[in-house]
Amino acid sequence: MSEREQGFDTRLIHAGTPQPRIEGAIATPIFQSAMFEYAGERDYHDLRYIRLNNTPNHRVLHEKLAALEGAEEALVAGSGMAAISTTLLALLDSGDHLLMQDCLYGGTHDLVHKDFPGLGIRSDTVDGDDPSGWEAKLTPRTKLFYLETLSNPLLQMPDIESAVAFARAHGLVTVIDNTFPSPVNFRPAEHGIDLSLHSATKYLNGHSDLVAGAVIGSARLVERVRRKLNHLGGTLDPHAGFLLERGMKTLGVRVRYQNASALSFAQALEAHRAVKRVNYPGLASHPRHARAKQLLDGFGGMLSFELHGGADAARRFLERTRLFLKAPSLGGAESLVTRPATTSHLGLAPSERERMGITDGLVRVSIGLETTADLIEDARQALDAG
Ligand SMILES: *Cc1c(COP(=O)(O)O)cnc(C)c1O
Repeated sequence: MSEREQGFDTRLIHAGTPQPRIEGAIATPIFQSAMFEYAGERDYHDLRYIRLNNTPNHRVLHEKLAALEGAEEALVAGSGMAAISTTLLALLDSGDHLLMQDCLYGGTHDLVHKDFPGLGIRSDTVDGDDPSGWEAKLTPRTKLFYLETLSNPLLQMPDIESAVAFARAHGLVTVIDNTFPSPVNFRPAEHGIDLSLHSATKYLNGHSDLVAGAVIGSARLVERVRRKLNHLGGTLDPHAGFLLERGMKTLGVRVRYQNASALSFAQALEAHRAVKRVNYPGLASHPRHARAKQLLDGFGGMLSFELHGGADAARRFLERTRLFLKAPSLGGAESLVTRPATTSHLGLAPSERERMGITDGLVRVSIGLETTADLIEDARQALDAG
């Protein structure tokens, strides 16, 4: 059986492993060596050096990530933002223009709005759910359409199929941030998306103990990004790479558990009288539940909700929960709770947050790996207290 015919979880464990195993080692050893002996390489980018993203620890991750999403190639980076910024800078020159879905991850939003104008890279935001508004935003220099599979923190799902068709018709590269669903629940290459990006800090690693990023897609595009990453220097250290590979081996069992746990949690929240609205793609009340059911293999471990009592009630909820840790980030073993207006979207003006639908009372939850009933009970006691 070829590697690509194996099941997802078999690929998680075995894809990319050096053959034969190095000294028979079951786990990939950490190659903590900045450089390697010259072996006749003819291209600068092939010299073996940690910054050039080609040590054994890099190569294992590249093959594993590509195999997981059924893509040709992959690249790891020093953080999710290194993957995002390097990808955009590899594909866009001064004078170019990109379309981006509104309501993006705060760091990406700030990068495009605060850093890119000075480089001459222009952008327009579009409603990812309304293709009728896209064509009017095209310019002769539009090169790229940027999406997130599930948006943070509202868990909106753009019209991915229309976006791919639109991009094909207009010669745009499609790039999607696939951090929230992880490759377990969505594999962008299967839907014709050119590049999939991840904050590997989140589900891919899954243990809240490193930062890393990933770029997955066609060999041609990933190689372009790798060359830019070689120059910009946002490489992943081999030790972090070792930890990431170790974390990824349990991605399947973790995310499937989180899918089930988050769905039960979302249903319990939705049934509580103090709760005004729950944003979770697995609920029938989600405006794009049908699309999520069609495109995703699971609905993920992220959700957000609003309480009838608004910002004050949200603040009290955070004070009263005991199991949920008050911390930003997501995708780890510990369940976390935040108010996006005070963390991930603090960089935005209040009017901008308002326009995006991120109210001061919105609470975001990352469901971890604790016993589901304990999480539901903790939320219930915090809500019952008012
Ligand atoms: C965290 C996150 C990022 C940024 O990743 P870092 O690893 O923190 O640099 C990008 N996109 C999404 C959706 C994220 O959740």
